[in-house]
Parts: sequence; structure tokens; C-alpha cells
Amino acid sequence: MNNLAIAIHGGAGTITKASLTSDQDKAYKAALKEAVELGYKLLQEGKCALDAVEQAVVSLEDNPLFNAGRGSVFSKEGRHEMDAAIMCGQTLEAGAVAGVQGIRNPVRLSRAVLQHSDHVMLSGYGAEEFARNNGFAFAPESYFFSSHRYKQWSEVRDSDVFMLDHTEQVDEKYGTVGAVAVDSKGNVASATSTGGMTNKRYNRIGDTPIIGSGTYANNNTCAVSCTGHGEFFMRAVVAYDVSCLIEYKGYSLQQACDAVVMDKLVKFGGEGGLIALNAAGEVALPFNSEGMYRASKRNQEETFVGIYREG
Ligand code: ASP
Repeated sequence: MNNLAIAIHGGAGTITKASLTSDQDKAYKAALKEAVELGYKLLQEGKCALDAVEQAVVSLEDNPLFNAGRGSVFSKEGRHEMDAAIMCGQTLEAGAVAGVQGIRNPVRLSRAVLQHSDHVMLSGYGAEEFARNNGFAFAPESYFFSSHRYKQWSEVRDSDVFMLDHTEQVDEKYGTVGAVAVDSKGNVASATSTGGMTNKRYNRIGDTPIIGSGTYANNNTCAVSCTGHGEFFMRAVVAYDVSCLIEYKGYSLQQACDAVVMDKLVKFGGEGGLIALNAAGEVALPFNSEGMYRASKRNQEETFVGIYREG
């Protein structure tokens, strides 16, 4: 049996010990632990990596702490427009949705795109029509409402400022959730889901649903899920870049992740991080921001949960 491994993230940014109360610290850690262990349990039961990453991301989407699914931020128009993607490293099949509203678990919809459509990416009304045709129930606006998100948005709604999640500075907030896993057959998969940026407009779409930018998986190299300033991650084609360094330059997983996140992205001005693993069960969780909500579990090892630089 192959080494089992799963890693997840809940966004990166200016997350310091001082910026979280001890109750918030505990709540985030408990949510991360629960999600990573849910995914790991599926792997132990012999389920495939796609099932594990989908389940872990669903767990984070259902938790209002994270900017994805239920906890998605408000757009300029006061809506919740969500992006998600999922990719299978064995077949290189992928599914993605962008700018969807009313969907409880956008990652499930991206899986449906992978499995039940001839396309890779669907957006907006079309993606919602596809959801209806495939039996997805829609949640009312109230499901996505949280006073915390509303307050974040109220502070900037009358301006042109847009912001990512998880930071003190209004123009630099990152938030997104993601998972990567390798199953008992040695197949890898990745999934990412986000509400994007607070006060975003013009149907802005970030890196999350773009295969190769925010999400990528290939059995021969690695599975990657990113979080950070999407505009930079798209232009740097981050997830595929990590894979390419392994494929064409023979880098180890850690070397490839460090080269992209700690060197190339830093020089480029792209703040954020990613989670990655390979078919051998090696895991890397690099980030160049102050913190990144993250967790991993490998074989019978203890679950690792970290938020800040030092863990
Ligand atoms: N990358 C996401 C986006 O730009 C945001 C994030 O990771 O926080 O939409």
C-alpha cells in the first residue's frame, strides 16, 4: 500500500499570534484538524485522493471561519461569488467553476464539472444552470451571511478598495481553502475553493479556479493548491511552475516549492503560500507571508496543525 498523505490550507496573509485571540486560535486549529482528519479517514478507508480532497474542502467551506462556501466574502454588489477547482493527478482531468452564487459547496460543483461535463471550467449563470441540471440545491443568501464579513465589506463598499482576507492592512487580505492528497494507489489530487476578495467587482476571478495557477495535480510530479494574491499567482502560473521544476529540472518537492514561493514569488511581489505533496507522500507547506492556516497528516503520524511562521 502506498504512503497515505493529505495537507490542507485555510488561507495565508498577515496572520500573527497578536492578530488572533486565543479563542480564535483554538477555533481555527480545531477546524483545520477536523478537516484534515476527515480527508485522511477517507484515504484510510481506501477512498481515492479526489474524494479525500473534496471532503476536506467541503468541511472548510461549511465553516464560516474561512473565506470559501459559507464564509465567503462580499463582492462590491453585496453578493458572494465563489470560485473552485479540483484536479486528478492520475488522468489530468479537471473541473472548475468561477463566479458562482448560492452554491453551498462550490468544490462539489467543480467535481461535477470534472465528472459530468465535457468541459473544464464553467462560470456564472451557466455554471449555476449546470448545477441545477445536476441536482444541486441552492442555499438562500442568509446562509452566506456573517456579521464579520458584512463589517469587513461595510468598511470598503463605498470605495474602490478591494481586499483579500486575513490581514490587518485593508488592501492585502488573503483567504481561500485547499487540499492535496495521495491515496493508497499512489494517485494524487488537489482542490481549492474561495470567495475571492472583499469588494471585488466586474466579476473578478482569481487564481483559484485556473488550472495551473491556483490548482494543479499530476501523479508524475505533485499536487498543489495555492493561496495568496491571485493576480500574482495567475501571472506566475504558480502551481504548474512547481510541477515543471520537478518534471524538467529534477528538483525535489521541497526545492521546487521553495524556488517558487520563497524566491520567484517574493521577487515578483506575490504574497501567499501553497500546499503540495507527491505520490511518495512527501509534503511541503511553504508560505512567504506572516502566516498560513495549514494542517497535514501522513501515514500513522500525528496530525500537524500550524498557523504562524513557527507552527
Ligand atoms: N487566491 C485567492 C484569490 O486571489 C485569494 C486567497 O487565496 O486568499 O482569489
